[in-house]
Amino acid sequence: MRLDKFICKSTDLSRTEARRAIAAGEAQVNGEAVTHEATQVHENNLVTLAGQRLVPRPFRYFMMHKPAGTLCSNVDGVYPSLFRGLNIDKPDELHIVGRLDADTTGLVLLTDDGRWSFNITRPEQHCAKVYRVSLRDPLDGGVAERFAQGLLLQGETRPTQSARVEASGPREALLTITEGRFHQVKRMFAAVGNRVTGLHREQIGNIRLNVPAGQWRTLTATEVAGI
Ligand code: URA
Repeated sequence: MRLDKFICKSTDLSRTEARRAIAAGEAQVNGEAVTHEATQVHENNLVTLAGQRLVPRPFRYFMMHKPAGTLCSNVDGVYPSLFRGLNIDKPDELHIVGRLDADTTGLVLLTDDGRWSFNITRPEQHCAKVYRVSLRDPLDGGVAERFAQGLLLQGETRPTQSARVEASGPREALLTITEGRFHQVKRMFAAVGNRVTGLHREQIGNIRLNVPAGQWRTLTATEVAGI
């Protein structure tokens, strides 16, 4: 990770304060003075600031039940940011793993561990995301086959990865996908002539949503390790 981030994760300094300290020559990596804030350091490097050894805080992992009418963004926009409901220390250090649209509800994961979130969002990892989808029209007979084969979304040249869909009600379906393209679920159903009227994410990998709307909790070690 970058030296300025490493310092923030090990102290109470803000990013600006960390950069000032680095520019002032207070930081050393493995005994060498480093004045460039973007220098890459590893957890096992000996990093000191004003002579004090720095040890980064452990990574943090949370689930949150996103209510409708909130934004998966660090700042408010047309709707309030999801982070408003997350009353923890230093929320700005976290990022959202796989955003949901403002009108989508359900499971959102938050962490400061970039490698972990990459394992969820990188399509090559095939990490399953399960959505409960409300539909304008009943699920057509041929849709499961088309989703399984992969289909071209409007404006794209690469077909979607194989997805699994099954009816779970007269106008409701459970969909499992392994990618996270822009508005993917809504565009997949649009591609087969249907329309999503409600969308809720239930599960990511082995992690199942089990807190009420607007609530959050820390992930267990087993959940973190299972990704
Ligand atoms: N697909 C969508 O279309 N919207 C979401 O919020 C998530 C997946």
